[in-house]
Amino acid sequence: MKEHLTPLSLTRKLISFDTINPPGQERICIEYLGKLLEDSGFKTNLYEFSKGRPSLVARLELNDNKRPICFSGHVDTVPLGATPWSSDPLGGEIQGDKVYGRGSTDMKAGLAAMVVAAKNVAQYPNGKGGITVVFTASEETGSQGAHHLAGLGDVLGEAGAIVLGEPTSNYPMIGHKGVLWLEGYTSGVTAHGSMPEQGVNAIYKAANAVTRLEKYDFGVTAHPLMGKPTLNVGTISGGININSVPDRATIGIDIRTIPGQEHSDVYKGIKSCLGSEVELNRVLDLGGVMTDPDDDWIRQIFHMMEGVLGERPVPATMSGFTDVSVLKPFFDNPPTVILGPGEVTMAHKTDEFCYISKIEEAVEVYTEIARKWCEL
Ligand SMILES: [Zn+2]
Repeated sequence: MKEHLTPLSLTRKLISFDTINPPGQERICIEYLGKLLEDSGFKTNLYEFSKGRPSLVARLELNDNKRPICFSGHVDTVPLGATPWSSDPLGGEIQGDKVYGRGSTDMKAGLAAMVVAAKNVAQYPNGKGGITVVFTASEETGSQGAHHLAGLGDVLGEAGAIVLGEPTSNYPMIGHKGVLWLEGYTSGVTAHGSMPEQGVNAIYKAANAVTRLEKYDFGVTAHPLMGKPTLNVGTISGGININSVPDRATIGIDIRTIPGQEHSDVYKGIKSCLGSEVELNRVLDLGGVMTDPDDDWIRQIFHMMEGVLGERPVPATMSGFTDVSVLKPFFDNPPTVILGPGEVTMAHKTDEFCYISKIEEAVEVYTEIARKWCEL
């Protein structure tokens, strides 16, 4: 007998698949999602960026003359952490209005709501535009799945708008900062710790560089929604042991950029601040995302969300980065909203949960967005 699919049962089913990244191993979860969409008439393709790690592209093609709407999310989750959980992290335990589990909030509830909504809309013939569902592997470690899909050329097709189901408590977010992770290396010459004058200390060089970074000014005015760009030295390491002069030190630099900043210029600025003694490498480079709040489609969504949230949404952006850093430019910058049932404050935490009522609300919202897009 076919199991009855509800947004909650699907969320719990998705939580039960172990997609903790690393190592990822998203295949079983992705295949399950692909099958559900195929059953409703979607054409599905899997694209594997490494063994056992495919992303899914599923298309409901309704009309050639209008571009489809893209619904997107990621299936991988972050590791569990050292603190023991109160319940099985893959168990999907229900307590009152909450469903618990790793990935419940970030973002298997969002995937479940999108699939149920996509299946709802697929029941109606004669729509326009259609829906493209893009579920990626390996977002949490730097959007590798999304990058892989974009790099394949033609597999994503087109999209006239994007909905990303990352956790926002169903609040519509219209952008986020870009991210540039850099690693700086300094070199020296080893010597005995009792004769430091015979060596060159790589840690002193790194320390000087870090001090300069602390005062670094990007020289840009604050963005009205996102504020100023930020820089944080997140890691520093180096040295062999306490009684040697270190010949190598590494600095990890996390920069979050605002619209208008070109990452190549930011890189050049940091490079010249650090000087010739620091070798600099890019570790991650994803542009920011911003949609005009006056865009017609965004206004339509804000109007719809006023009824759902009980207040008119104000233009807002989120703090982290997402797959739309890759998808939005790939699709030639269509209007994009980040809206999902998870609680952003629960993402990546021990005893992560999602409100069940928010999952049901997301299904209604996604269905309505897709129905309007497809003119049904
Ligand atoms: Zn996420």
